[in-house]
Amino acid sequence: MKIAIAGAGAMGSRFGYMLYEAGNEVLLMDGWPEHVKAIQEKGLHVVLDSGEVNSQIPISLFSESKGGFDLIIIFSKSMQTEQVMRSCRHLINDYTYILTLQNGLGNIEVIEKYVPKNRLLAGVTTYAAELIGPGKIQALGSGDTHMMSVDGNMSTDLIRIVDVFNDANLNPKLSADVFTSIWTKVAFNAALNPLCTLANNTVAFVGSYKNIKEVVSVIIDEILLVAQAEKVRLDRDEVMDMIFSVFDPAMSGHHLPSMLQDIQNGRKTEIDYLNGAIVKKAEQYNIPVPNNRLIYHMIKMLEKTAVST
Ligand code: NAD
Repeated sequence: MKIAIAGAGAMGSRFGYMLYEAGNEVLLMDGWPEHVKAIQEKGLHVVLDSGEVNSQIPISLFSESKGGFDLIIIFSKSMQTEQVMRSCRHLINDYTYILTLQNGLGNIEVIEKYVPKNRLLAGVTTYAAELIGPGKIQALGSGDTHMMSVDGNMSTDLIRIVDVFNDANLNPKLSADVFTSIWTKVAFNAALNPLCTLANNTVAFVGSYKNIKEVVSVIIDEILLVAQAEKVRLDRDEVMDMIFSVFDPAMSGHHLPSMLQDIQNGRKTEIDYLNGAIVKKAEQYNIPVPNNRLIYHMIKMLEKTAVST
């Protein structure tokens, strides 16, 4: 399959590497010149749990990317999605599928301006990766990938894409309700990412706080009310289990969420697409969400300090 990865940071590079090594024709596309140059000159360096490898995967700047693709996977941060879609609109043909596996709310609404709903796929992944520096990523553990067409229809093309993901060991699953999958991951990220960022510490550290259940509950209960107003089915137990499962240091407990890494690296976070998006939607329905609102503002303050220094 001819696949382009739009946004070849930590996750884009990881998925691109796995799909390329499984025999697909893959092009990484990115807008960070040092990163693109490093991969073009020395290959993509991937630190796996089992050792380190170098992949000669092709990469180009968005502006220099050419060709038609069967599938374009969007793996930018959510605040970059509009820019990324503009940069790769010339690569979208009548047969191109677009898949977003990004975290946060709002990406589908941006992407559907560029591709019809029957060729827009969305989902979530529990795979994780970190960008160590230009041309170098760390692939953390394993995971799975839930996806579905946003119009809810199954097609032979979708089954083919799932087969391709299967062959690349990306453990794909067709989601019965992709919006439930996306909101479950949003709730998970909206609780864990800001708490670790505010505590400036790992997931396991936050999980070890004796009143953590109370803290997580007040955030999640507000998100449940907003999901209900949006007519998205969200299961409280499922969300809480997902959060508490990662507090175990043997799981990804030692992990620093990307929001904290972004603050540490002086970059903008995805807070506007997590707690910020919950606050905006809650305003439409007159639902009070004081805990998510406070968290949103606290991260915006940290972001302001980090990005301007
Ligand atoms: P990332 O920050 O590694 O990369 C995103 C983009 O930012 C890439 O285009 C990258 O080249 C660019 N970038 C990164 N550092 C830069 C720098 N110093 N200067 C200039 N450009 C830079 O993003 P990611 O972690 O791969 O996340 C992509 C999406 O996937 C997000 O929506 C994220 O929430 C989601 N996601 C991430 C993980 C994870 O473990 N990282 C897991 C699941 C989902």
